[in-house]
Amino acid sequence: MKANPFDLSGKVAIVTGANTGIGQGIALALAEAGADIALVARSDASKTHSMIEDTGRKAIVIEADLSTIEPCARIVEETVESLGGLDILVNNAGIIRRNDALDFTEDDWDAVLDTNLKTLFFLCQAAGRHMAKHGAGSIINIASMLTFQGGIRVASYTASKSGVGGLTKLLANEWAAKGINVNAIAPGYIATNNTAALQADATRNRQILERIPAGRWGEPSDLGGAAVFLASDAARYVQGHILAVDGGWLAR
Ligand code: NAP
Repeated sequence: MKANPFDLSGKVAIVTGANTGIGQGIALALAEAGADIALVARSDASKTHSMIEDTGRKAIVIEADLSTIEPCARIVEETVESLGGLDILVNNAGIIRRNDALDFTEDDWDAVLDTNLKTLFFLCQAAGRHMAKHGAGSIINIASMLTFQGGIRVASYTASKSGVGGLTKLLANEWAAKGINVNAIAPGYIATNNTAALQADATRNRQILERIPAGRWGEPSDLGGAAVFLASDAARYVQGHILAVDGGWLAR
């Protein structure tokens, strides 16, 4: 093991949904730990790109719409071609649709399951094929409190994130012996676009804050340490784990 087991120097990471929010925070943390980053985004990712370059690491932007699995193989190929390899995949891109279960539409079901679960699996597969050939790699899937809890008015999101937890364990079981670590991070309530509606609702905002032992919303940068750990040699015997970074939410 390296003198600093959290050092990611010489490693290459893909981070999806890296233009904003948690993806941006994780991409920056991985770069600060030494990794070069392929930023996958459907929107302008130039801000994250310059943040990474400011750390002295290389960054490329790969434009991709992850609502279908079509770009998965291309994302891995472009990363390997431009950055010289692939060691870390962070499956972060995700969406949420809110409605009562009685009124939930097929579109709100399919859109969320397709992006949050189906594309996540096929990007794991594309990265896993490369990593298995090289006998090493780390995959980090972004789960949720709704990997453990039911939630309310978010049927497809809960189904997708519960699925992410199961898939993370399945892939760990299949790939641990191939040198690939597959784990997940379950963020608590983090202030991003994803939770803008909750933050704007004074009652829900108060209820949420009262229940978080840390007494505040998380910031995207709060996820950085967990991502660096799970991507690093320090986590080489950590497999199929879902690491909550939640200000104590699950402990209540
Ligand atoms: P966010 O700011 O809305 O970021 C979501 C990211 O996913 C954005 O970059 C978004 O791109 C991207 N994305 C969504 N659909 C995409 C598609 N079809 N193709 C390409 N990119 C797509 O929210 P966030 O909170 O950072 O969410 C990041 C992850 O954390 C998600 O998986 C979310 O479920 C999870 N999470 C968040 C919280 C929280 O409290 N915030 C809690 C638990 C889990 P655009 O900017 O172009 O839309």
